[in-house]
Amino acid sequence: MREIILLKLGELVLKGLNRHRFEEQLMANAKRRLKPLGAFKVYTRQSITYVEPQSDDCDTAAAFAAMQKVFGAADVCLCRECEKDQDAMLAAIKEFLADQIAAARTFKVECKRSDKTFPLNSIQLAQYLGGELDEAYPHMRAEMHHPDLIVNVEVRETAAYIHGNPAPGAGGLPVGVGGRAVSLLSGGIDSPVASWMMAKRGLSLEMVHFFSYPYTSPEAKEKVLDLARILTPYTGRLVVHVVPFTAIQEELRRSCPEELFTILMRRFMMRIAAEVAHRTGSGCLITGESLGQVASQTMEAMRCTGVVTDLHIFSPVVGMDKEEIVRISRKIGAFETSILPYEDCCTVFTPKHPRLKPTRAECERAEEKLDVEGMVKTAADNIERVFIAME
Ligand code: ATP
Ligand code: MG
Repeated sequence: MREIILLKLGELVLKGLNRHRFEEQLMANAKRRLKPLGAFKVYTRQSITYVEPQSDDCDTAAAFAAMQKVFGAADVCLCRECEKDQDAMLAAIKEFLADQIAAARTFKVECKRSDKTFPLNSIQLAQYLGGELDEAYPHMRAEMHHPDLIVNVEVRETAAYIHGNPAPGAGGLPVGVGGRAVSLLSGGIDSPVASWMMAKRGLSLEMVHFFSYPYTSPEAKEKVLDLARILTPYTGRLVVHVVPFTAIQEELRRSCPEELFTILMRRFMMRIAAEVAHRTGSGCLITGESLGQVASQTMEAMRCTGVVTDLHIFSPVVGMDKEEIVRISRKIGAFETSILPYEDCCTVFTPKHPRLKPTRAECERAEEKLDVEGMVKTAADNIERVFIAME
């Protein structure tokens, strides 16, 4: 018999009038991710999104794994279809839930019946199945409050459906419901985590990477594209806007005080990212800044970089320790790639004594002799856009 997948909506259910829009977005995102895995039907009833294979060549196991990475679903269940016959249901439970039954010490059966012509009502069916399971498995006893295993049985028009405890979903809100954002993606640990966190809050992302060839190598750029690839199961397909940054860095080194180099460079990053936001219809910026981590991430330095744009800058890891960031980085599978030893443009021309508490006035003074607007425009006009398909 075939297996289907259920997505139980988490936070979504709470969203009142927005709920419909959120469900639509979740279904659209799920469909896009399922496309390479076969023909699946996707629909929502009473806060549960159903994913049903429509032919034998559908890869349901891969679909299940993919659905665990779709933001918006709190729980994901693999569910076995079976005949609408109480003994067929019992046999299906024993076979399909064998591992969960072996691990459980307490259980209960919950039944739902939308097919009102089925001869037993929900309570009678639960009693029958519960009694049989209790007898068949002496290691496991029935327990109504907080059982280890809840055996769910749903009798619908066409068939019955059985599932055990759900697997955790990705949580959060469906990508896209919060609008579009530009995320500054370096090759480090923090920015992929920051991007993932904001996608989880429903933002759809445009990635921007500053590339300083030949000071940074093609491998360094490949690494960033790989990081974007690692994010796509969560974010959906991505565009990485690769910004040629060498000329700006060289100009800053030539004409500005060395101790302000990093902060001025970061001001240009924000301006260019804001320009990309303008060109892509994005409403905010995202960075992986963490307060106090490096000289350019003091309160004063972050203010100096933030003031060059009126877009809000989300830095979701700002209050996190490196260890906490690393934990998420490992969880999303980015860590091993992030620690590959390629240089980032931030490590090019780093001053020996960067100013820890720069002021806005001194940054502006240092930039007076520069054609800021022209530099930003030239960089933005020469962006290479790399399209990253979903993994
Ligand atoms: P990360 O681990 O994300 O590289 P970091 O601790 O190395 O962060 P910085 O190098 O100071 O910190 O960068 C702070 C933030 O600025 C990054 O998290 C990222 O959002 C952005 N950033 C830095 N370098 C680049 C780059 N080359 N391209 C795009 N964004 C960058
Ligand atoms: Mg970095």
